[in-house]
Amino acid sequence: MNLPEPNLVRETLWSLYGEERYCKFVDYINSRCDDRGRLLYWQEQLWAGVEEKLGIHIGDYRDIAALFRVCHVHGVELQRETLPIIYGYFKPLPQGYIKFEAAHFPLANDEARGPDWEEAAKEREVLFCTACRQAKEEWRARRRY
Ligand SMILES: [Zn+2]
Repeated sequence: MNLPEPNLVRETLWSLYGEERYCKFVDYINSRCDDRGRLLYWQEQLWAGVEEKLGIHIGDYRDIAALFRVCHVHGVELQRETLPIIYGYFKPLPQGYIKFEAAHFPLANDEARGPDWEEAAKEREVLFCTACRQAKEEWRARRRY
């Protein structure tokens, strides 16, 4: 079966469930689900509604995820890049910053942090949004003054 057109699938998800759940669904795909290789239970419920509405069925998680490689904040298609992994101890980020990042540049992904012990892997592929990176750069520049 050919995969449906990504914009149609995204618009269907949005129109069925609204902005908040659309954003959460897409955010989870691009930040958490790839490690598991599957949707979470609540996502499966939403996705079943999309499949029913469009009369489609997609069995492979990777095919579903590929339809949502888009930034849920900026609507920009995500890019892939391989970054060197930085091993070492990082101070925990302040809660205020974590919230700010999630709202303004959740997919900047401009560095790949590893644990504070060295592992064999030297590089990691990341997904990122060019608009998130730009927003983060502008925020950094403002903070220098
Ligand atoms: Zn973005």
